[in-house]
Amino acid sequence: MKAVSVDLILTDNIALSSNAKMGKNGSLFFVDIFYCRRFILTVRGESMEQLIWKDRKKLPDFPAAEGEYKTDVLIIGGGICGILCAYFLSWAGVDYMLAEAGKIGQGISGLSSGMITVQHGLIYDKMLKELGREKAQLYYRANQQALERYISLCRNLDCGFEQKTGYVYSRTDRSAIEKEVRAVRILGGTAEFSERHSLPFGIAGAVKTLGQVQLDPERLIGCLAPGLNIYEHTRIEKIEKGQAFFKKGKITAEKVIAAVHAPEFTGWAGRMKLYRRQVDSVVLDSCAPMDGIYCDAARAGLAMRNCGSGILVSGNGRGGKTQFLSAVSECWPQAKVLQYWSGQEYMSFDGIPCVGPCRGRHGKLYVAYGWNRWGMTNAMAAAMLLRDLVLERENEYADLYLPQRSIGKRQLVVHGWSALSHWFLPGSKNHFQKKH
Ligand SMILES: Cc1cc2nc3c(=O)[nH]c(=O)nc-3n(C[C@H](O)[C@H](O)[C@H](O)COP(=O)(O)OP(=O)(O)OC[C@H]3O[C@@H](n4cnc5c(N)ncnc54)[C@H](O)[C@@H]3O)c2cc1C
Repeated sequence: MKAVSVDLILTDNIALSSNAKMGKNGSLFFVDIFYCRRFILTVRGESMEQLIWKDRKKLPDFPAAEGEYKTDVLIIGGGICGILCAYFLSWAGVDYMLAEAGKIGQGISGLSSGMITVQHGLIYDKMLKELGREKAQLYYRANQQALERYISLCRNLDCGFEQKTGYVYSRTDRSAIEKEVRAVRILGGTAEFSERHSLPFGIAGAVKTLGQVQLDPERLIGCLAPGLNIYEHTRIEKIEKGQAFFKKGKITAEKVIAAVHAPEFTGWAGRMKLYRRQVDSVVLDSCAPMDGIYCDAARAGLAMRNCGSGILVSGNGRGGKTQFLSAVSECWPQAKVLQYWSGQEYMSFDGIPCVGPCRGRHGKLYVAYGWNRWGMTNAMAAAMLLRDLVLERENEYADLYLPQRSIGKRQLVVHGWSALSHWFLPGSKNHFQKKH
C-alpha cells in the first residue's frame, strides 16, 4: 500500500483531517476523514491525462457583489437549479440577480454524473401505492417534461449531450421490475421489461426507457451562464424582511429563490423533513463501454454510464467509501480507478422534492431542495415551477412539490430513524448488494 498525493476540495463543512492510501489494485482506503459535504480526490499519476471531464472548458468568471442592490428576484446559489432559474427568468424579461457563495457550478452539480431520466430507480410502483395515482402521475409528467426541456435546450450546446436508453436493473428481483413496468404504463409512460444489457454481471431484468439523456452538468452551466446577471464570491449570510445580507453589502428583493441544495434558510421545520445520503463516484479505465445509462434498483446499488474512454460509476451509501470501492472492484476487477469523489444528497421522506414558497419570517422566499439523489431532472422541473410561481402563473405541479405538505405518519416512522442518524452521526455503514 502506498500513500498518494491528493487534491482535496471542500465546501461548506469541515474535514478535520484526511489521509488516503492506495492498494495495489488501485482501490483507495481512507483514514480519518470526518463528515464533509463534498470532496474530490484525484489520484495523481500517469492516467491523469484521461481524467473525467478533461475536455471541460473554463467556466466564465463573474464579479463579486459590493454595496447595495435592488432587484425584483434574488436567486441564491449558482448550481444547476439556480442557473436554470436565472436562465428562465432572464428569458421572461424579469429583473433578477444571482448570488453565488463561491464559483458557479462548483457545488454538488459539478460532482454529478449527469444522467437525466424520468426513472429514478423503482419509484412509480411505490408512489402509486403510497401517494396514489394522481400524485404519481403528476411526478412522472413533471420529470418527463423536464427531460424534454433538457433535450430541446441542450441538443445544440457543447455540453456532452447524448440521448441514451435508460435501464433500471435488479440483480435478483424480476417481479419488482415487472411491477414497475406495469406502474409506469398505468401512469401513461412507455417502459419495457428487458433482459438485454451490457453490464459485467447477471441481472434478473431491467426497466428499459428510451430517449433518456447523459451530459456534463458543469459544461452545461458553462454554456448557459454567459450573459446572466451573476455575482460570484457573494455568500448570503442572512435574509430579513426582503433584504439579503452579504459581507460587503445587501440586496433588497421582492422575491428570493434559495437554490442552495440544502434547507439553509428554512429553519428546523424544513430540515426535519429530510435526511442525507452520501453519493460516491469513480471513473474507471479499461472497461467495456455501456450501451445506455444504468441504475441499480437496490437503494444502495451502482449506477453507471460511459465517460470518455472509461465509465463513470456512482453508488449511494452512508460514509462507505471503502465498501463502495470494493463493490466497484468486484464488478470490474481489471479496471483502474482514475478518480474518486463524493457528495451528500438530501432525501425527502415521501420521495418528492420540496420546491415552492416557504412560510416564515423572510417575506416571499421560495426554496428548492430534497432532490432524492436525482437533482438534475428535478432541478429542471423545479426551475420551470419557480419561474411560474414568481410570475404568479398557474402551474399544475405547485401542490405536489409544496415544501409545507404533510409527509404522512407512515413515511415519518419508516424514515424517521434514518433522518435522525444522518443529522446527528458523522457517518455510518454502507450497504451494497452482494454480487452473486
Ligand atoms: C456523486 C453524485 C452523482 C450524482 N449524479 C446524478 C445524476 O446522474 N443524475 C441526477 O439527476 N442527479 C445526480 N446527482 C444529484 C445532483 O447532481 C444534485 O442533486 C444537483 O446537482 C443539485 O443541484 P443544486 O443546484 O440544487 O445544488 P448545487 O449544485 O450544490 O448548487 C448550490 C449552490 O448554492 C451555493 N450556495 C450555498 N449556500 C449559499 C449562500 N448562503 N449564498 C450563496 N450561495 C450559496 C453553493 O456554493 C452552490 O454552488 C448526483 C449527486 C452526486 C453527489
